[in-house]
Amino acid sequence: MKVLVLGAGQLARMMALASKPLNIDVRAFDVGSGKVVDPLSPSVSFGDLTGGISFAEVITAEFEHISHDVLAVCEASGKLFPSSKSIKTGGDRRLEKHLLEAAGVDNAIHKVVATKAEFDEALQLLTLPVIFKSALAGYDGKGQWRLKDMSQAENIWLDIENFIQEDTSGQSQAVVVEQMVPFDREVSMVGVRSKSGETVSYPLTENHHTNGVLSVSLATDDHQSLQIQASEAFDKIANALDYVGVLAIEFFQVGDALLVNEIAPRVHNSGHWTQQGADTCQFENHMRAVCQLPLGSTALVRPSAMINVLGTDSVPNSILSIPSVTMHWYGKTQRAGRKMGHINVSGNNKAELYQRMNQLASLLPAESFPEVAEYISNLK
Ligand code: AMP
Repeated sequence: MKVLVLGAGQLARMMALASKPLNIDVRAFDVGSGKVVDPLSPSVSFGDLTGGISFAEVITAEFEHISHDVLAVCEASGKLFPSSKSIKTGGDRRLEKHLLEAAGVDNAIHKVVATKAEFDEALQLLTLPVIFKSALAGYDGKGQWRLKDMSQAENIWLDIENFIQEDTSGQSQAVVVEQMVPFDREVSMVGVRSKSGETVSYPLTENHHTNGVLSVSLATDDHQSLQIQASEAFDKIANALDYVGVLAIEFFQVGDALLVNEIAPRVHNSGHWTQQGADTCQFENHMRAVCQLPLGSTALVRPSAMINVLGTDSVPNSILSIPSVTMHWYGKTQRAGRKMGHINVSGNNKAELYQRMNQLASLLPAESFPEVAEYISNLK
């Protein structure tokens, strides 16, 4: 099989790595250069998207902020999975909220705001604190404003108004305002749906964020009642989109309830632990789904975790002496805060996993891994 991935970052690279044993040939469309590259080398395979589309039997995506023109030509080829509708829904919080409501999945009370009148109306309806999030191109906590006190309202509106006016996307920008949820923790579910409608989901993953960016994911398989709730939400959302491939859902856990925060129509950072911790990793399962191969088992092989390497291009080699620790570099040039790689770690049981995570944390420089050691030391 030949697959073209829209986007040429680490997710395309890991899809290509997982595809090699299946003899699936993956190329990636670099939206920056407009060229199609081999995501593992990365040498240029085709000078433009047209070459990539002719080469491919299947086209998929590694991110949701892809220009609508590109999505339209790919969809017209009949090879795009998931559909452009699914990809666009993940890239626009208005469409995302509409989907959640239509699919009957619980999420935070919200309103769409594009004008001062809508801003004032939303503040009448919601109780402070609230969070405003850009409708388009906002992720990892970017394009967000938190309003805790009415005295901040005027200044925040001026900021949002500028943000909306300065938008260059060519689509109408707006913000979605949500009630702040007093969550106990953040969890996510990665699942996969085949073209024929079969769904399977991975164990729920607990996520810790540092400065709005995912820093640690933990999969231990001990949240059975939440697992059922999350799988049901996954099925409702994936079925509503007639989705094909891997889809991730981020939730807030409040007591025994889950509220959807957002969806990602692609393989997801909180599913990287599946490379060592699950029967079939998320990257292989995505490829299986879009290439119409049987889906692989998503069972947890052993409790596992992932630690993101952000903004640094080196970690002590000594971490590799810890059993069941694997390093995954993305081959990217270092930039402050950039996702450079991740470390996976597993144990035969939770106690062994936590002991290895603590050992890892003691070797990782605290300044490059803020909050990580503290989070790990509190795991029980
Ligand atoms: P997002 O870009 O929507 O994932 O938001 C980034 C982070 O902001 C989330 O991981 C949460 O920690 C926090 N956050 C976003 N929305 C809410 C909300 N409605 N209530 C509480 N915290 C939120």
